[in-house]
Amino acid sequence: MIDFNVRLKTISLLCIGWSHPSIFGPDIPFIRELNSNGKMRIYIPASSFRGALRSSAIKLAENYGFKSCGEIRPELIEDRHNRMGGKCDVCDLFGEPMNISSLIVSNFEPIKDIKSLILTRIRLEDNSLKVSEEALFKVEYIPVGSEFLGNIKLINPTQKRAALLLIALAGLRIGRFGRGSNPIDIRIENTEKIEALLGDWYDLLNELKGWLWH
Ligand SMILES: [Zn+2]
Repeated sequence: MIDFNVRLKTISLLCIGWSHPSIFGPDIPFIRELNSNGKMRIYIPASSFRGALRSSAIKLAENYGFKSCGEIRPELIEDRHNRMGGKCDVCDLFGEPMNISSLIVSNFEPIKDIKSLILTRIRLEDNSLKVSEEALFKVEYIPVGSEFLGNIKLINPTQKRAALLLIALAGLRIGRFGRGSNPIDIRIENTEKIEALLGDWYDLLNELKGWLWH
């Protein structure tokens, strides 16, 4: 097994919630919960990060010569793999139904307390630009530069799995993290073990050691 740390930083005001759920839909990767000491804690659950990472892998895999079935619905994955002549590289890394994944992702915890901002917005009717009945709604954001720290473990590491994992991580920096939000930045740390594994993919790792957006 190898593991490394992943640092994630917001590079724009990032929306984490709203009082009018129908506007953006429910797939927000951030969770807010009350600590035992009464403080609000904002973090990214492992399952959200993993889901975003898998989508990123699906999007990029074939550009880098990996196989992807492009499927996330469990009932369809096996059929797709049968037609492809075997398990795809994305499912090999992230797991498929009834099979254990090669990847363990932690929650992403804020490195210091994050104070969210609540802004009131006005909603217009879709076509007429008239102010709608539920005209005012509140949107909650976390500030630019909020940092989160998590850990990724790769069980039975191979060069292929490590490379696809780093490609998916790099993809999060240019894709979108959650609906209605902007890119985030990513940096990896404690990379000695994964470095030793990468061979020709080493340049990709080097690029992920620093922030992309300054
Ligand atoms: Zn697959």
